[in-house]
Amino acid sequence: MEKRKLYMETYGCQMNFSDSQIVGSIMTDHDFEITDNVADADLIFINTCSIRDHAEQRIRARLKEFKKYKKNRPDLKVGLLGCMAERLKEQLLEQEQSVDIIVGPDAYRDLPRLLNIAETGQKAINVLLSLDETYADINPIHTKGISSFISIMRGCENFCSYCVVPYTRGRERSRDPETIIDEARRLFADGIREVTLLGQNVNSYKSDSGTGFAKLLKDVAMVDPLLRVRFATSHPKDLSDELIETIAKYPNICNSIHLPVQSGSNNMLKKMNRKYTREWYLGRIEAIKRLIPDCALSTDIIAGFSGETEEDHLETVSLMKHVGYDYAFMFKYSERPNTVAAKKYTDDVPEEIKGRRLQEIIDLQQELSHKSNLKDIGKEFEVLVENVSKKSQKELSGRNIGNKVVVFPSADKKPGDYVKVRVTSCTPATLIGEIV
Ligand code: SF4
Repeated sequence: MEKRKLYMETYGCQMNFSDSQIVGSIMTDHDFEITDNVADADLIFINTCSIRDHAEQRIRARLKEFKKYKKNRPDLKVGLLGCMAERLKEQLLEQEQSVDIIVGPDAYRDLPRLLNIAETGQKAINVLLSLDETYADINPIHTKGISSFISIMRGCENFCSYCVVPYTRGRERSRDPETIIDEARRLFADGIREVTLLGQNVNSYKSDSGTGFAKLLKDVAMVDPLLRVRFATSHPKDLSDELIETIAKYPNICNSIHLPVQSGSNNMLKKMNRKYTREWYLGRIEAIKRLIPDCALSTDIIAGFSGETEEDHLETVSLMKHVGYDYAFMFKYSERPNTVAAKKYTDDVPEEIKGRRLQEIIDLQQELSHKSNLKDIGKEFEVLVENVSKKSQKELSGRNIGNKVVVFPSADKKPGDYVKVRVTSCTPATLIGEIV
């Protein structure tokens, strides 16, 4: 029997992209094959993000575009997955007539049954959150490239006041370490040369058998010295010296730590319920720089959170200068319904002030990133080749251990190879070099 075709679009964080690989695996086990061509699809899944209002508006716009495919193919089914599905639940079926299936992040095993219901013409929904679902026994379908995600835990219990994730992804639960190490071995045998261990808050990983994140990271690094290991995302309150020492000890654990700070002001950190102070955070940064001097540092920052004063904003600016981040993800505060912040505070920073402050930190980060890259000119780095460079077929691109993109003439190298590159010049975003 000819396989039916599933077209998937994924929005948002790395966790969602990893989940889509799990969904792909479940559906290919149920007589579907993945297609990149929406016009060929029998089934369309959108894995959605709810972190900011803008993310949800993009999904609604996309649904309007899919309407025309449904007109031509009435038997075509459309499913919404992920955080927006979990946040809005039944409301979405009322608001978006073209949607047949609504599924939350913990109910993907139920997709085949929900599709059967939808094929009878009824709407199908499952948004139950689970206390133990980790999809540990499902082999995510790995698409292309030499790097892959491995999701090691699900959910978050930090309840930062602005964040919807604890409501859309539920309580924290960690996968059994053996299943994670097996997956890393399998991926390495399949030619993968870099894995990123994923979780909303990886450093609070704790398996039922008591394995903590530092030990798990070491065990994955021990799979093979040619397998690079990265991880995201860390919460500063759980960043232990033991974890930093583990990163320093194993050459194939990458010297790059993404440590979201969100704000440099203690007043804002308190209102955000981030559970650390500016001083605590800078203490962690100092520990990283002491134990891993060349560690690359990146972060997330919210501009214009409720009640943010100009002084609070300048505290963020001064913290960025003090740390000297290599790069950062920066956003305007977007109030999310039913979060603690939406209930307790007002979104009172005017849009133009949010925009001006955001632009100031973006401009500052551009300077910091360029300064960081300029310091690398003349240095030699081991680069893991990932792709042909976007700019020229004669060039390859890859990343150094600090997660910086490096572009260089290709010689006879290919994705998956490790090459030594000397940096000869740079842009704020890219290092440019030659193989030595
Ligand atoms: S740590 Fe905070 S910001 Fe991150 S997912 Fe959890 S609640 Fe959201």
